[in-house]
Amino acid sequence: VSRLILVLGDQLTDDVAALKAADKTSDVVVMAEVAEEGSYVPHHPKKIALILAAMRKFAARLRKDGWTVDYSELDDTENSQSICGELLRRAEQHGASEVIATRPGEYRLIAALEDCPLKVTLLEDDRFIASHKEFEEWAEGRKALRMEYFYRDMRRKTGLMMEGDTPAGDKWNYDHDNRKPAPDDVDFGGPMQFAPDETVEAVLDLVERRFGNHFGDLRPFWFATDQGQARRALAHFVKHALPKFGDFQDAMLAENRFLYHAVVGLYINIGLLDPLEVCQAVEQAWKDGDAPINAAEGFIRQIIGWREYVRGIYFHEGPDYPRRNGLNHQRKLPEFYWGGETNMRCISKAVEQTGAEAYAHHIQRLMVTGNFALLAGLDPAEVSEWYLAVYADAFEWVEAPNVVGMSLFADGGVIASKPYVSSGAYINRMSDYCKGCHYKVSVKTGEGACPFNLLYWHFLDRHRDRFSNNARMGNMYRTWDRMDADRRETVLREAEAFLERMSAGAVV
Ligand code: FAD
Ligand code: SF4
Repeated sequence: VSRLILVLGDQLTDDVAALKAADKTSDVVVMAEVAEEGSYVPHHPKKIALILAAMRKFAARLRKDGWTVDYSELDDTENSQSICGELLRRAEQHGASEVIATRPGEYRLIAALEDCPLKVTLLEDDRFIASHKEFEEWAEGRKALRMEYFYRDMRRKTGLMMEGDTPAGDKWNYDHDNRKPAPDDVDFGGPMQFAPDETVEAVLDLVERRFGNHFGDLRPFWFATDQGQARRALAHFVKHALPKFGDFQDAMLAENRFLYHAVVGLYINIGLLDPLEVCQAVEQAWKDGDAPINAAEGFIRQIIGWREYVRGIYFHEGPDYPRRNGLNHQRKLPEFYWGGETNMRCISKAVEQTGAEAYAHHIQRLMVTGNFALLAGLDPAEVSEWYLAVYADAFEWVEAPNVVGMSLFADGGVIASKPYVSSGAYINRMSDYCKGCHYKVSVKTGEGACPFNLLYWHFLDRHRDRFSNNARMGNMYRTWDRMDADRRETVLREAEAFLERMSAGAVV
């Protein structure tokens, strides 16, 4: 009797646990495009197209390799439009009662599989460097779960950029060198782009018909959709952008959407690239003298450090994690996150490129849209849903810790030791957004004052009880307290007025 082998849209590799456990001669691979997954949040059309196109190509590859694959296309009339529904349908067709699956990266889907009336075995997703057990052992008994210490263990475990027991160059972390402001010009033309082939075109037509009303542009579509293309995109990054990745990692430019970023997160997350393979390519470039140590270490830390760490946190903290609201922020997400008009040029540019590319790089997510959401007290659940919908690389296990934890401090400080908040000065230093903005970044109150300047103090003031004893925030509070009372009152009044206008739907 055959077993069903479930392969989900973000598990597109031969190395996924369920396939490794399967028997090609007797098992049936089940893959399904279902409306439920396409619409539980209004995913960006490019994100849906990426996943469906990569699924179709992966299924074709499996068939070519001799697997039996039952593939449900979204428009199949018999498609029940849910994962469990499709498993039940296939089980009946094949007289199968057992399903082998790789544990999904989202509590919602784990629950759906556990509740499915079939014998479903969930195997651990081992496409990661740290297993759940290793993370739990690391977390056990620690007061604070800081990424840096976890990262060092992952360096030791992988041996990446290690000389015996010591880190290359005798330093674990070169972040200090990675904070240069935006360069005048960027000598990298951006990630490798791929013209849609026949499979991709068919998917684009489908997505246009079914999800064309979602926020974001479907075309031009240029993402890699199979492993070979994704590897070429990686090699292109390593050769042409990696050398400056470190230096300009935190910089932002209004007219350059990618700077020296890799744009590989979306491929790693769905299985087209393996995280270790990506890090080894980067390490090799450093060994060959083609990339400086701050670039290679900085990049590898993002993957074996941050990426592994946030996954550990998501599963360590439990199913309530994505819904936490530690600062009790309730304000509704303003329309300008969905492309509505705003006078804040930094936000408008970050949202514009998000709509065009289903991509923004880390500092745009953290210090522009995330920073604003935190300062303005936006409801973390709404903000989190936005991030989950609009980025091609967004899956809950990685999105929620980054948004709810790192960016919004809504997890009560599990991930961040202090909130990532800044006034307009930081954005001005790291970008060219402020030139040409309706607001003036140097103006603190009154006509033309940058909203980030007002809201920054408003945030600190309204959360004084929570943060004034935080050693790393003492300076901020001392600066605020030194201002004269009149000025403080003006700042708070103007911040309130701004928030009220914003919530009333005025263009701010
Ligand atoms: P690069 O800047 O070139 O970095 C290289 C790789 O490092 C990335 O591809 C990614 O795999 C990894 N990485 C870097 N930072 C992180 C991080 N903080 N957490 C996990 N992996 C990281 N990343 C996602 O994959 N999915 C998300 O939904 C997501 N949401 C985010 C939301 C917010 C508010 C913030 C601040 C960050 C978020 N990130 C998310 C992390 C990071 O911004 C993206 O991984 C990165 O921008 C992807 O682009 P890139 O491939 O060009 O990355
Ligand atoms: Fe953003 Fe303020 Fe700069 Fe305008 S002035 S781009 S609102 S930081």
